Amino acid sequence: MKTIRLREGKDRSLLRRHPWVFAGSVAKGSADAGETVRVESHEGQFLAWGAFSPASMFRVRAWAFDEAERIDAAFFTSRLQRAVALRGRMGIASDGVRLVHGEADGLPGLIVDRYGDLLCAQFLSAGAERWREVIADALLAATGLARLYERSDASVRALEGLAERSGWLRGDGATACIITEHGWQLGLDVATGHKTGYYLDQRENRKRFAGLVRQLGCRSVLNTYSYTGGFSVAALAGGATEVVSVDSSGPALALARDNIRRNGFDDSACGFVDADVNATLRGYITAGRSFDAIVLDPPKFAPTAAHAERAARAYKDINRLALKLLAPGGLLMTFSCSGGVNADLFHKIVAGAGIDAGVDAAILQRLEGACDHPTTLVFPEGEYLKGLALLKQ
Ligand code: SAH
Repeated sequence: MKTIRLREGKDRSLLRRHPWVFAGSVAKGSADAGETVRVESHEGQFLAWGAFSPASMFRVRAWAFDEAERIDAAFFTSRLQRAVALRGRMGIASDGVRLVHGEADGLPGLIVDRYGDLLCAQFLSAGAERWREVIADALLAATGLARLYERSDASVRALEGLAERSGWLRGDGATACIITEHGWQLGLDVATGHKTGYYLDQRENRKRFAGLVRQLGCRSVLNTYSYTGGFSVAALAGGATEVVSVDSSGPALALARDNIRRNGFDDSACGFVDADVNATLRGYITAGRSFDAIVLDPPKFAPTAAHAERAARAYKDINRLALKLLAPGGLLMTFSCSGGVNADLFHKIVAGAGIDAGVDAAILQRLEGACDHPTTLVFPEGEYLKGLALLKQ
């Protein structure tokens, strides 16, 4: 077993059971990509077992903080069983569930989503990659399922010195499937969809949106960055009579239409706009249109705090336009999934957008990601999705 010795004073985060060791904290020691190493303090005290990653700024990601632990197949089986059992106790109203959320489940670099009887995984760190086969077997054992698709085609793999890869890891067959979320039938495709195929993190917010649309009697709804139309189906379930979905992905919009029909809603009063959201919002304002409810769920504008300033301008712009376009008394559900923009900053950005638009709004709800994407006490970095449900005054 190779040992990584940290610089003096760099033991603090591991002592708090935070799993990252940055490259600059390492005094000496090296290992192969993904190899298990013993991490010790400058004084030689055991701190953690972790996976070494020579190419990454996250030079070691800790697997375990207990010296008696062994990093082997039994370890991964136990961590995966724990993650699956946790979801079983969360009361999730869907068969689409995030089973493993990386660091928050003690498995840095591993993402696993379950869609009905289909599993889809992303191996995003050298350590997760090294244990890929073991993890695949342990996942099938922990879930009792037989089909596992891999979507390790995320660009972050390059930062770990890993090539992108996707395809069946266990089993085979159709990559399209239908999940039941809050009783709604939603189709997705794990091979061609974004990430692992679907945005499970918005599950509870889609339900909240349906409830608010009904409570407020919203008729016309604009769902921007709609992807496969999850919020569009929610709007129709909440009693909306006209829903326009806007996305720059044609295949996502085609699935959105299928999903609306699949749930028995009439798609003749629904619009599907394959265009840039910003330009579409401007076009509607120029045309003098308004909507009773708007969803703004853009992609990550700021992956890290370094991008926050530019992202802030982009968020402010779309929120200003949406607040203008909204009918008086209308509902805006607005989100940011940028790790580099925290909830406080997001609140300030949206407040600035309101001032620029010349409108005020009451905060009905502060929103976050679903509980199967947990933020843990020791790993606040896991928090990324935040949002506001606003009522225009
Ligand atoms: N709200 C969705 C998830 C949105 S993901 C859900 O509940 O499932 C973000 C979406 O924004 C993606 O589908 C992507 O294709 C789309 N997108 C990214 N940039 C865009 C732009 N400039 N204009 C329109 N759509 C965009």
